[in-house]
Amino acid sequence: MVRRKCYVCGKEPLTKNEIGLTKKLIDQKASHFYCINCLADYLEVSSDELIAKIEEFKDEGCTLFQ
Ligand SMILES: [Zn+2]
Repeated sequence: MVRRKCYVCGKEPLTKNEIGLTKKLIDQKASHFYCINCLADYLEVSSDELIAKIEEFKDEGCTLFQ
């Protein structure tokens, strides 16, 4: 798997969950990925809300998350 880093702050490596969220919430074919904090800023939500989203997606059985 290609090492992804955050497009905004450069944090790396991104977790599978961070990559999954970018794909789910921005674009399945996203070429830029965001860490949780930068994605929260970008979407104007809190990182806690994003973490809750990850749990929801996992409960749905989404394989983009671990
Ligand atoms: Zn970042």
